[in-house]
Amino acid sequence: MLRPHTSLDAKSSEAIRGAKLKRRDLLKKILGLGAIALGTHLPYSRLSESDNSAIQFTAEPELHPALAEVFEALMTDEGAQTLATLASASPILSEAEPGSESAAAETPKPVTPVQPESETVDDPLPLASAPDGEDARLEKIRRFNEVFTDDIFLTSGEYATLIAALKRINRVQAYVGHGNFNILAFDDMLNYARGVPEIGRFRQDEKALMDRLFHDDASQLGFFGKKVIVRMTHRVPKREVIKVPYTGHYLYKGDALKLYERLRDDIGDRLILTSGVRSVVKQYQLFMAKAVASAGNLSKASRSLAPPGHSYHGIGDFDVGKVGFHINNFTAAFAQTDVCRELQRLDYIGIRYTTRNKYGVRYEPWHMRVVL
Ligand SMILES: [Zn+2]
Repeated sequence: MLRPHTSLDAKSSEAIRGAKLKRRDLLKKILGLGAIALGTHLPYSRLSESDNSAIQFTAEPELHPALAEVFEALMTDEGAQTLATLASASPILSEAEPGSESAAAETPKPVTPVQPESETVDDPLPLASAPDGEDARLEKIRRFNEVFTDDIFLTSGEYATLIAALKRINRVQAYVGHGNFNILAFDDMLNYARGVPEIGRFRQDEKALMDRLFHDDASQLGFFGKKVIVRMTHRVPKREVIKVPYTGHYLYKGDALKLYERLRDDIGDRLILTSGVRSVVKQYQLFMAKAVASAGNLSKASRSLAPPGHSYHGIGDFDVGKVGFHINNFTAAFAQTDVCRELQRLDYIGIRYTTRNKYGVRYEPWHMRVVL
């Protein structure tokens, strides 16, 4: 049964103010309040559907700093990493003339919302109705960052497991390095966890949850893309990929590399690879981080990120962005950049996730379709 969140928010704030609390206790307290998971059914759970339109749902409570490290993956993967690797590689930022289109676009303008999950909203959001069929899918694509009545949530116990597993995955990434991590195989991840004490082996419940995230029918979440990688233990064939200088990312040789080179020829070095080949592990990390940021709402996470096994990044697609635009390359702000406008004038590219896509994923003008 859904409960109003107002009191939970108050309790959360109170907990947050309790600076003397130990971090673990604090996390436990936040989780224990039930501010995150809303049901106890297995597998996963839905919001109560019995109240229909009477249900009001407040914005997700602001996450406590204790969870901040969980989000490092998201920030470093698609933002800071690009920033770090490109800052020295590209002279564009420093050479752009003040007032030029390039300089103007390089200054990140406040965009609403750049990171919607950390946004605080005072007024309750109406819980969207969930009509069936194409209209519902398109509505969810438009309002990908909202909560719908038929969204699937993790329980509070599962959510705690999710956080623990994600932190472990992040430690593996820190250990092997961001570049290597992009193409790291699942078994290798388990081996690192087992062999490196600072990472620690994956617990049974962590493995069981990851297993379900890979094997459960993603269409139940509202994600309708096909499963392009069917084995969790799939390995990216190293001889078939190439690391793209200054990006930390890989591309498949052949069509993907050719397309990327053509884009760089036509648009110039303002365009950069922001995410290339992703192993199953990498997709796990991104999806799980999004699920954590979405308060355990797997459906909401799947409107922004394909569940593991379902990403075309695994078999050829890649993302491009504008040099210096950092994390904004993965937001609606990208559509306003010169790079995106020039991309859209090219007749040889395809966008995987259009405004009316069949997958149930938000509009992503940065995601280049390579595989048909
Ligand atoms: Zn993408």
